[in-house]
Amino acid sequence: MDMPKATNAATETMNKEKPHPLPQDVPLPIFVYSKNYNIDLGAHVFPAIKYGRIYQSLKENKLFDRHSFIPASLVSRESASLVHSEDYLNDLMNLEMTRKLYRSELPLTQEVVTAFFLSSGGTLLAAEQALEKKKAINLGGGFHHSFPDRAEGFCYLNDVAIAIRKLQKEKKVEKVLIIDLDVHQGNGTANTFQKDSSVFTFSMHEQNNYPLKETSTLDIGLATGLGDKEYLAQLKGALEKIQQQFQPDLIFYLAGVDVYREDRLGGLKMTFDGIRQRDEMVRDFAASIPLAVTLAGGYALNDQDTISLHLQTCKVMTESSATIKEED
Ligand SMILES: [Zn+2]
Repeated sequence: MDMPKATNAATETMNKEKPHPLPQDVPLPIFVYSKNYNIDLGAHVFPAIKYGRIYQSLKENKLFDRHSFIPASLVSRESASLVHSEDYLNDLMNLEMTRKLYRSELPLTQEVVTAFFLSSGGTLLAAEQALEKKKAINLGGGFHHSFPDRAEGFCYLNDVAIAIRKLQKEKKVEKVLIIDLDVHQGNGTANTFQKDSSVFTFSMHEQNNYPLKETSTLDIGLATGLGDKEYLAQLKGALEKIQQQFQPDLIFYLAGVDVYREDRLGGLKMTFDGIRQRDEMVRDFAASIPLAVTLAGGYALNDQDTISLHLQTCKVMTESSATIKEED
């Protein structure tokens, strides 16, 4: 930030005159969101209306009063093509259910495709904000089952992969770490960066669950039924190992909450408290490194649990937040 030092009163005046630049003490994380992330899929297991409910809850919570909420915009096709093949993007944008698309478990409609371009734009924006201000959350994203040339699961575009390629192309980052703690392996992401040593892909997931596994830089496949204590011990060990091997310019965290014990698509036994500790561990690991968070999966039997768990992640990321300080 390039602002002169100012008292609170002066800052207020400055903000009135200049509504656009962030005030100097905007608390972190910055939130990125679009109402068009939300798609009503009816009784579908993918709760695509969760995004709006999370956003609403954040806006109603005094804790987030002073946080910035920035609207996501569509990622360009050019950026998407840094990861995805032209053929795949043609099929996707023309809504043609070809072999490249048939592994998708979502409908192929304009509304859905637009939501994916927006979510990718949101993850890119969150990463840019993280590089500038240290920490940001896209209230969406984390579509790690999308491959360069095909869709899979609930994922049409790999938002994190697109953001990484775009930021590398612009020379804003060199080395990037992905911490993927969704209960499902980040197979599309692993495949995308398999031969790219500038991106460290770490996935810790339930081994005997969807999807077919690809090879990440570091994979930890967990036994079904694993609880908080063992999970957190495994995570601690993995993060220590990564710290010795790789010094990233930016970290993406896929904070999937489908590790919860009442998740419909996950078989781990984590509690609210265990997931909070998991998020804290990642937050503290990234203490001095820009951190961009995406929500990723969450399919609790009770939708409200999914919302509460994602909100818990937002809260954890807020708690250690240093406020933005201008440099002398
Ligand atoms: Zn998942």
